[in-house]
Amino acid sequence: MKYDLLIRNGHVIDPGNEINGTMDVAIKDGKIACVAAEVNSELAKEVVDAKGNYVVPGLIDIHTHVYPLFPYQGLPNINADDHLLKGGCTTTVDAGSVGWRDFLFFKEHVIDKSVCRVLAYLNIAAQGMVDLRAEQYVKNMHPQVVASVIKAFPEDLVGVKSAHYRPGGRPAYDSENPPWGSVDKALEAGELSGTHCMIDFGVCPVNSPYDEFVTKKLRPGDIHTHVFAQQFPTVDQEGKVYDYMWEARERGVLFDVGHGAGSFWFRNGHRALRDGFPPDIISTDLHASSIRGAAQSMLHTMGKFYNMGMPLEEVIARSTHIPAKVINRTELGTLSLGSCADIAVISIIEGDFDYIDNGNAKIKGTSKFDCRMTIREGKIVFDGYGMSMPLWEEAPKDTYWKEYWQ
Ligand SMILES: [Zn+2]
Repeated sequence: MKYDLLIRNGHVIDPGNEINGTMDVAIKDGKIACVAAEVNSELAKEVVDAKGNYVVPGLIDIHTHVYPLFPYQGLPNINADDHLLKGGCTTTVDAGSVGWRDFLFFKEHVIDKSVCRVLAYLNIAAQGMVDLRAEQYVKNMHPQVVASVIKAFPEDLVGVKSAHYRPGGRPAYDSENPPWGSVDKALEAGELSGTHCMIDFGVCPVNSPYDEFVTKKLRPGDIHTHVFAQQFPTVDQEGKVYDYMWEARERGVLFDVGHGAGSFWFRNGHRALRDGFPPDIISTDLHASSIRGAAQSMLHTMGKFYNMGMPLEEVIARSTHIPAKVINRTELGTLSLGSCADIAVISIIEGDFDYIDNGNAKIKGTSKFDCRMTIREGKIVFDGYGMSMPLWEEAPKDTYWKEYWQ
């Protein structure tokens, strides 16, 4: 057979290739083999009818925490395969759960074993996210070592993370906990490794001004994650985005949602969107707490932006093609010929679906995204509505449970 799998009649949105319309997508040997208005279904071993659904590149969530073995008490991690594949997410970037000290264990037990593609930002703190204090203690930060580990594992590591910036976490500033401490160390490691940084600017202390952070500290390509958390002065009371935000964007600094359990407020995000300042990237910051809070999943977080008025194609672009570019994996987040066949089939359900933020406030919503099928490297890894399955009356007896009993 010419193709292994054919997804027919779906509405394909592939922003990287400027495709937005009804198309068939054929897969062979785990790769995209053909995207065309019509592909002969007799050429495929398996055919799935996606009529009424959207067929998009597998979603890329560049801010999650997927190291469930990790003993960080304040932020238990989730399991990438269990929690992400069923939501259309085929690639994720763990945002600094580990530092260089534990990276090999993380690689062995999570990165190399997951079906979901797991990449990572390496935490600038040697021991990663063990607690808030350790993440600010500059004696635990070794930019040279971090850079050499990133250079040694370019397949897995996309850049440097510093998190929960809180120089006041210790009683006073001192040589071990100076202003800009973890931020400067991360940027130094980014410079040495030739990669970008994702910075969680924590509590945004007064002696480390936010405008200086985005216009002077961050380099082009660096990311401020959690941009619409309440503590960041991104937009004024009249709903006007501050000039330094535009200046930072002009310089190439990137702004990421990183929703999480405490980092998205409509009063900032909705206002910014209305003033024409969308986030560059949509991401969840999923961990064991945010997954049952306001963030919930990549599709839920995307649905929030869709219901705030972001056009559908833009929502998809900021969750696929754009994050792929940002992490320097341009082969991902597209349905280009020859690229890895990572695909999400999603539908939009109309109804009363309100969305909440981390300030316990909500917006009225009229639709939600739902994952119908997820394909990873050409294989169906989630099919919760049985799009690829026959009705039970027509199902051949001997295939039932087959894979489990063999
Ligand atoms: Zn995070």
